Amino acid sequence: MKIAKNTVVTLSMHVTDAQNNFIEQTSGEGFTYLHGGYDDFFPKIEEQLEGKDIGFETEVQLDPDDAFGEYDAELVRVEARSLFPADIEPGMMFEGIPEDGSEDDLEFYTITDIEGDKVVLDGNHPLAGMALRCKVTVTEVRAATDEEIEHEHVHGDDHEDHDHTTVH
Ligand SMILES: [Zn+2]
Repeated sequence: MKIAKNTVVTLSMHVTDAQNNFIEQTSGEGFTYLHGGYDDFFPKIEEQLEGKDIGFETEVQLDPDDAFGEYDAELVRVEARSLFPADIEPGMMFEGIPEDGSEDDLEFYTITDIEGDKVVLDGNHPLAGMALRCKVTVTEVRAATDEEIEHEHVHGDDHEDHDHTTVH
């Protein structure tokens, strides 16, 4: 089966930075996404995979804009230490709502520094500002179910429970 809109694609993937420093690699059954512009995967890689089949291999270079965005210094914030649990340390990630945001604006923050009664938070993705080199191999292609298409994501064996009576 060829990769097209509304197919579920499984890949093994090996990611380095532009200098070939290892960043991450899929393990086990690999990475699975719903193909067809659902914002489930990097659009630039989806483009390369369109019409391809199991066994297809390619290497795609992603500029920061194609990957996790440019580094945005405005996403760095300083908060009071007292707002956080006692056992925080640099490198920890958690979810938070921006000062002037609502619950829809939930973002991920990384604690980058703790000094005295202040905590420095960085809302940039850890890979923001980086160009990535992704080697991908297609290992499985199947038709998406109607429910997956409606939900715009994959329902695998390990799919976390969620309310399937409403579209989310
Ligand atoms: Zn779902």
